[in-house]
Amino acid sequence: MSQGKAFIFAAPSGSGKTTIVKRLLDNNPNLGFSISASTRDKRGRTEEDGKDYYFLSKEEFKQKIDEDDFIEWEEVYEGNFYGTLKSEIQRIWDSGNHVIFDVDVKGALNLKKYFGDSALAVFVKVPSIEILKERLKDRGTESEESLSRRLYKAEFEMTFEDKFDVTLLNGDLEESFEKAQNLVDDFLKS
Ligand code: 5GP
Repeated sequence: MSQGKAFIFAAPSGSGKTTIVKRLLDNNPNLGFSISASTRDKRGRTEEDGKDYYFLSKEEFKQKIDEDDFIEWEEVYEGNFYGTLKSEIQRIWDSGNHVIFDVDVKGALNLKKYFGDSALAVFVKVPSIEILKERLKDRGTESEESLSRRLYKAEFEMTFEDKFDVTLLNGDLEESFEKAQNLVDDFLKS
């Protein structure tokens, strides 16, 4: 596998990292989004197979694990598997772009280990758990149960901040976009 850099954006679900990653993709044609494989249900009106995720059955996902198709994979939430396919990174680097990831904290640290100095690992931090809770509720896509699972996991994930190359505090979204763009520009120059 050759060349290209990698931007790894990680944070607890609901921290706004997906919004930041999408904006970076809109503004930087030299970035390609690493579409993960996932076994979770598609969010009906907002998500597309092959764009947001490759939505797989558990059987299909397990087959890919057996065939060693993943750089990393994880059961992010009980019963829901997520993973980064080797073929995805190859696809993006072959097209001459740098790759950008939107993954959970553990996956991010595994990717950072894999890509080493070619990768910038960014921890997107919400100002507080209370704000995270509000954002997840506002999204309206979570049941009570999945909301509390996500919050429980978020508190744990917050403890990994210092293992990242840099923290991006996501309070005001416009400011965060600007900070994220500066991180990308600086890392591409380095
Ligand atoms: P969601 O269900 O909200 O789309 O994603 C749940 C969590 O899984 C998020 O933190 C998301 O970033 C993470 N995730 C998405 N793709 C991957 C992946 O390929 N590997 C890992 N480890 N986590 C992922």
